[in-house]
Amino acid sequence: MNAPWSVHITQDDWHTLAAHLYPGDQDEHAAVLRCGLARTSRGSRLLVHDVVYAVDGTDYIPDDRGYRKLTADFTLNTAESCADDELIYISVHCHGGSDRVEFSDIDLASHERVYPALLDITERPAVGALVFARNAVAGDIWLADGTRVPIDRLQVMGRPQLQLHPEPRRPARADEAYDRQSRIFGDRGQHILASQRVAIIGLGGAGSLANEYLAHLGVGHILLIDPDRIEISNLSRIVGAQRWDARSLLTAEGRPEWLRRIGRRLAAPKVKIAARVARKASKIVTVTTVFDDVLEPEVAQLLKDCDHIFLAADSHSARRLVDAVTHQYFIPSTQVGAKVSLVKDTGEIADIFSAVRASVPGDGCLRCAQLISPVLLQEEAKSHGERRRQRYLEDDDVHAPSVITLNAVAAAHAVNDWMMMVTGLTSDLVEPDRWITIHPLTDEVVEYSQRRDPRCPSCGPARFARGDGKRLPTKVR
Ligand SMILES: [Zn+2]
Ligand SMILES: [Zn+2]
Repeated sequence: MNAPWSVHITQDDWHTLAAHLYPGDQDEHAAVLRCGLARTSRGSRLLVHDVVYAVDGTDYIPDDRGYRKLTADFTLNTAESCADDELIYISVHCHGGSDRVEFSDIDLASHERVYPALLDITERPAVGALVFARNAVAGDIWLADGTRVPIDRLQVMGRPQLQLHPEPRRPARADEAYDRQSRIFGDRGQHILASQRVAIIGLGGAGSLANEYLAHLGVGHILLIDPDRIEISNLSRIVGAQRWDARSLLTAEGRPEWLRRIGRRLAAPKVKIAARVARKASKIVTVTTVFDDVLEPEVAQLLKDCDHIFLAADSHSARRLVDAVTHQYFIPSTQVGAKVSLVKDTGEIADIFSAVRASVPGDGCLRCAQLISPVLLQEEAKSHGERRRQRYLEDDDVHAPSVITLNAVAAAHAVNDWMMMVTGLTSDLVEPDRWITIHPLTDEVVEYSQRRDPRCPSCGPARFARGDGKRLPTKVR
């Protein structure tokens, strides 16, 4: 398989690792990354679960063959811990220099001496090493089948996202259609957008807008997931939808029920409408439509191939699934939507808000923030109840007040944050785990920090960075 290998690390782990490797003494330092693995059609990702730091002079000592080496004790202990915890052993050390880096002959010879044994000890599909310069990284990954592969990049999954490569890359000039925006984030930023695969779950109000924005920005691949067809009452807030899509001649109020039923069955899937919008907006986009429930195991599998997920569906099982994908596979996500809540008895408006909640690996999750109701999860999980419940929510949504501009505020904010994050423009000063709700009744923006429960089953150590080593919370077959 020629698909590239990459290493993905949280922003916190990256900051600590960089401080360990570069304390300012111009010397070499070392550590071991313990990683989960995700293998997909787009490449294999090593996901850093934690870092074991080698203490200079104790674990990392002068070497008669080369300059320094990890002691046999440190290597063996760490490898055994990897075997116990089913994680992959990746050693790291640093060289001098800035923008390019490669292993020395002595480094490579030591891999040949040690790595066959480490593959045996750890009983994992790979072991390997990374070597860093200040702004570059190279890798030598040994696979259990005897092949050796380099790494394409290391990606810091923070805000902003940062990519390191073995040597500088010169992006091609962006298409003139993107001239005005590439003046903001450069050809490099435009190239990053074109290389992104972004999933949207739910192509109702907020999802349809996120799709339109992503296509206009020049995103390379959009994956659209929604099991529903459009209805007349959706027309006011699904962009690009036409009356014909809802078969309004058949489904309008006053038509006989049997005719309306046929009309509803013939109405266009929401994903088809979104695909039409995206293709009109962009000549470079590839659109994949999935007219099915994201909780189907084979649909959920598609998420692990993506670079970001926008969650615009109002189901608590979908929230739980996306939390798991974000923290297990290191795929950042943004929950986006708008709500109008009414006073129960009087029907008066209690609150209106648009919500944007982005999570990157290492943050807390929707479950930690108590935005996933165990009661609703159970209801949604009842046999066949899943579909019914979603219908019910959908119907609820139809009857609940909803306005395109509320969705637009949330979708624009969510896509804007994402764009700044992946093109590397987000300021380091931004508080990384900030969520917002925007309340037009009182003209307030409420910011709140994410909570993080260290034992959380969605973002805690049992799932964190486990990649393919853990089942996703999908429907059970
Ligand atoms: Zn070296
Ligand atoms: Zn959590």
